[in-house]
Amino acid sequence: MAYDPNNIFARILRGEIPCKKIAEDEHTLAFHDINPMAPVHALVIPKGAYISFDDFSDNASEAEIAALIRMVGKVARDLGCAEAGYRILSNIGQNGHQEVPHLHIHVFGGASLGRMINKVTA
Ligand code: AMP
Repeated sequence: MAYDPNNIFARILRGEIPCKKIAEDEHTLAFHDINPMAPVHALVIPKGAYISFDDFSDNASEAEIAALIRMVGKVARDLGCAEAGYRILSNIGQNGHQEVPHLHIHVFGGASLGRMINKVTA
């Protein structure tokens, strides 16, 4: 599957669509989710054209990978989630119900989030 340069996060990165920015560095952008599922719901994305975590973990540079991980931690700390705890999540592909085909890490916090996910059977 080829990267779709017209996906919504690519358009945010190009400045064609606004976002509620939290932080940015050379390799990453963090912003608030438009439809928050928790009191804190941020998204952290690489600036590079990576479809998913699978694509990113296989093809991104060490610097891009380090920047994304650092930014996830920074965003959680800056939004006041580190002490009480939070959850990070990335949906990948069809089974993961990924809607936007540009890698994004969800950061949820600000309240107790319940256990991981509902139990699923094949
Ligand atoms: P996923 O199912 O992991 O692909 O989730 C995509 C996420 O992107 C959802 O939580 C959406 O609410 C969020 N989203 C979609 N469009 C925007 C946007 N323009 N700005 C911020 N978040 C968005």
